[in-house]
Amino acid sequence: MSRCHYIYTEDGLKVFVPGCMGCAVHGPGKAYCTCRSSRKSDESKRNKELKKQLNETEKELDQAYRTIRKLVNKKRI
Ligand SMILES: [Zn+2]
Repeated sequence: MSRCHYIYTEDGLKVFVPGCMGCAVHGPGKAYCTCRSSRKSDESKRNKELKKQLNETEKELDQAYRTIRKLVNKKRI
């Protein structure tokens, strides 16, 4: 699929040619355009890193909760 672009007809009319689903559905607009694939892959790479970080944080949090629970249980006994 090519990027969104404009073409000029023989009559000199500017016609928008959508290159992505966002612009195909909503029309021309930066907010909907997902054509800049390099930027998109950068974002998905960052998303992956963030997900990994989130997973690690969740694990740490889980361990912390377990430790706290153990301590609380010990105190009760
Ligand atoms: Zn687009």
